[in-house]
Amino acid sequence: MKLLHNAHFYIDGGFNNIFTSLLIDGDRIVNIPSNPLPGFPDLERIDLKGAYVYPGFIDAHTHSFSGGLYQDGVDLSACSSLDEILNLLSEAAKQGGEIIFAWRFDEGKIREKRFPNVKELDAVCPDSKLLLRRIDGHSCILNSKARQSVTGLNSPEEVLTGADNDHAVNWLQDSCSEETILKAYHAAARAALRGGFTRIHTMVGDAEHSNQHYKLLRDHLNDFPVAFEPYPQSFDIRGALELGATRIGGCILADGSIGSHTAGLSKKYADAATSGNLYHSDLFWREFAAEAHSHGLQICVHCIGDAAIRQINSAYAHLDKDEVRARRHQLIHCEMTPDPLVAEIAASGAVPVMQPAFDLLWGGDDGFYAQRLGVERARQMNRFASFYKAEVRICGSSDWYVTPLNIGMSLHAAMNHHNQDERLRFYEAIEMYTDNNAWLAQEQSVLGKIAPGFVADLSVMDTDFTAPFDYQASKTLLIFRNGNIVYAAG
Ligand SMILES: [Zn+2]
Ligand SMILES: [Zn+2]
Repeated sequence: MKLLHNAHFYIDGGFNNIFTSLLIDGDRIVNIPSNPLPGFPDLERIDLKGAYVYPGFIDAHTHSFSGGLYQDGVDLSACSSLDEILNLLSEAAKQGGEIIFAWRFDEGKIREKRFPNVKELDAVCPDSKLLLRRIDGHSCILNSKARQSVTGLNSPEEVLTGADNDHAVNWLQDSCSEETILKAYHAAARAALRGGFTRIHTMVGDAEHSNQHYKLLRDHLNDFPVAFEPYPQSFDIRGALELGATRIGGCILADGSIGSHTAGLSKKYADAATSGNLYHSDLFWREFAAEAHSHGLQICVHCIGDAAIRQINSAYAHLDKDEVRARRHQLIHCEMTPDPLVAEIAASGAVPVMQPAFDLLWGGDDGFYAQRLGVERARQMNRFASFYKAEVRICGSSDWYVTPLNIGMSLHAAMNHHNQDERLRFYEAIEMYTDNNAWLAQEQSVLGKIAPGFVADLSVMDTDFTAPFDYQASKTLLIFRNGNIVYAAG
């Protein structure tokens, strides 16, 4: 048994000074003693030195494989010349490896104002496949070794854009060996622990192809210090069932993104003569939802613009409301929701899986969303408090690698929305990343709370999130999973 003592424990929506220790037996919390304990002979005492202990934080939506690959990749964001870039690539190439990912390349920031060419890349990296990605992910370049292995590129240009860019990125990810894939998940696990999480929902596969390495991850779930909740990110219902999955989807797309003017809106963008895209018909989604639902699967779909959200929510609304809620069918991102749509979502029983950091990064009357949509519509984005008021349970996530895996940043963003009316109180924000995310995966009876009988998954932080805090300074001290320390800072 373990006794954690000298700490603040987040219990029933807050800290109080009554509970300063916690007793763990095996993987479970057994007791929250308010008095000094009679001595147990085999009691291991762990002094937490005044730290703040939360139920293990859960992130409900990540792209862990890509995030993990990039984690070990070459970050080019600090480079100011081609020489610096080629030096970094040369260093990485010397360490060998099947594939080298270089990312965050911004030609605007380097002296030469251009991509390196294939000849230059080959000179520093002749033996590994190299993919160098622009900072926005919308263009890339391959060295010869990589280019030879990618079939079906349309353009002879060295810098790939559009479909060729997607094709190259997907192909290289698909062609990773099992060892490379598992290595990426290990890197993701480390990033999650460092960010304060005990458990992360993770999208597997790229939606176009089938379920790729779902089976590989599934068979290695016990090897990781963090818990992965895998999603087969595809439209293949039969495939998901054969894999033993209880859900289907992830970022399978109803629409695109605000940044690329492809999020599906009911009215045109403020800065472009388009209202974006709906990638499939109403009928397609209704049939997909009905079929997946009839097989008992939880359904998860990416939808950002109001037209896309309405399309997916309407597909759910054709199903039995109690079953939709019981199954927790997801509206992933669920960003642009005018009042009537909030009410429709409350009526369908669907669950918004949201990313507070999107508002932190792109919200506000001067922000990127306002540029694209105009101020009025930008204020109808990411309506955390409105959903709470409508009694819609919302779940929290980072969409990592898109925004950082950092619980402090996510909580800060939820509590400090640009629109004051949409700010959450601390206990609501914390609930988004504990109780609610446990509930999303049907694990609410054992995860998401510090209480007797619950699994001893704990996030030990240096920060009190119930009072004003600086998220950039906030640190994870320890992570307990199943009663064991799986991460310690420093
Ligand atoms: Zn998405
Ligand atoms: Zn996503």
